[in-house]
Amino acid sequence: MRNSLTIRRWRIDLYESAVYIQKQPDPKCIDCRGEGDITRGADPWGEEPDLQPCDCWNPFHSLRIPLRPRTVINERYPF
Ligand SMILES: [Zn+2]
Repeated sequence: MRNSLTIRRWRIDLYESAVYIQKQPDPKCIDCRGEGDITRGADPWGEEPDLQPCDCWNPFHSLRIPLRPRTVINERYPF
């Protein structure tokens, strides 16, 4: 089950065990125009340039709020 909610630049994802909050790209950013990705290092041989995240956000950083403690298994099984 996954539910998402977006409030301005904040995206909130609700899962069964946790809530994730992530800041989205700035829609007024001059570099990426709100897309979040920019091309760096244009290749002179015609290959596609690398898309990298813009400095206005970090796609690898989010806040995780657990909704319940994780299940800990203390029993040991022979197999
Ligand atoms: Zn940007």
